[in-house]
Amino acid sequence: MAESTTRQRGSEGVSSEAEGVSRAKQSDRDVSARSDIVVIGASAGGLEAVKVILSALPSTFSGSIFVVIHVAAERHSIAAKILGRASDLEVTAPVDKTPVVPGRVYVSSPDRHMLLEPGRIRIVRGPKENRHRPAIDPLFRSAAWTYGPRVVGLVLSGSGDDGAAGLWAIKTCGGTTVVQDPADAAHPSMPENALMYDQIDYSLPVQQIAPLLIRLSTRSIGVAGDCRWRQSLKTENEFDTMSRDIADMDSLGKLSPFTCPSCRGALWELSDGKLLRYRCHTGHAFSESSLRAAQSTAIEDSLYSALRAVEEKATLLRKLSQVWRDRQSRLAVDYEAKANAMEQSAQVLRKLLVGGEI
Ligand SMILES: [Zn+2]
Repeated sequence: MAESTTRQRGSEGVSSEAEGVSRAKQSDRDVSARSDIVVIGASAGGLEAVKVILSALPSTFSGSIFVVIHVAAERHSIAAKILGRASDLEVTAPVDKTPVVPGRVYVSSPDRHMLLEPGRIRIVRGPKENRHRPAIDPLFRSAAWTYGPRVVGLVLSGSGDDGAAGLWAIKTCGGTTVVQDPADAAHPSMPENALMYDQIDYSLPVQQIAPLLIRLSTRSIGVAGDCRWRQSLKTENEFDTMSRDIADMDSLGKLSPFTCPSCRGALWELSDGKLLRYRCHTGHAFSESSLRAAQSTAIEDSLYSALRAVEEKATLLRKLSQVWRDRQSRLAVDYEAKANAMEQSAQVLRKLLVGGEI
């Protein structure tokens, strides 16, 4: 869509708290508003699903689409190019503070979160969430706060539960929630988790999602949503831009007995409906499954470290046994017994690492 024919929303470049609240109020009052802010989260198998959706949207589609795809930080993402070739819409990987324009698709870049503020996009290297950067929840949460009932949140194929908390935020703020039918997804656990934790408006095969988005984008929202009471959403958004700290944690939840697997700081327990989440005061955030996975990684690292130490000690004891055997000392027997015991301990650790549920 040509720049000259587009209408730019909001007063770009403005992101003060007062303006944010003002935008939220305006959105809440504007019952003629449309569901025209589409946020999409995808992981393993999700790029193909996004392609299917974008290729079925006409060049006249009036919504703005924001796509977060999990990708390793060290990888150069070509997702925007791939999706651009499949779509009649203009597809870009935005830089920080890019204005939001209708009829455009904005795709996340590796190692950066994509967030929405009134009229513009933030691309920031904030703390990882659910062990990902970019993560889906920060985009969804910031969209929910900024655009309220205008938001359509969509979770596609992927592993884990990123996006579930974000959909909860979108629903809480009056938006519409959609998941790819798990039976239709290459990796069903992300949509399955969303269905388990959230009130989902539509669960559809990917082929049926573009027609739904077209219908929603022309539908008057009618009933205004209101998420202004969700101050914690805004606070969490500000953790993503590193503008909050430990003094703000008690407003989000209660102190838990757990430590952050990323920075070893204390974790606070947050409750979003049926969802339990955790966040440390430097901003790392974990869903239930991502905290479990991070703890498993920490245990595995510790077990390998223990195995290395135990094997080194067994090797030393074996060597000392040989040294004292050559000197015909009975110390040799003592060292050999200790070496055998140490090797038995190593065996236990190996069994845990190979076959144990960590
Ligand atoms: Zn942390």
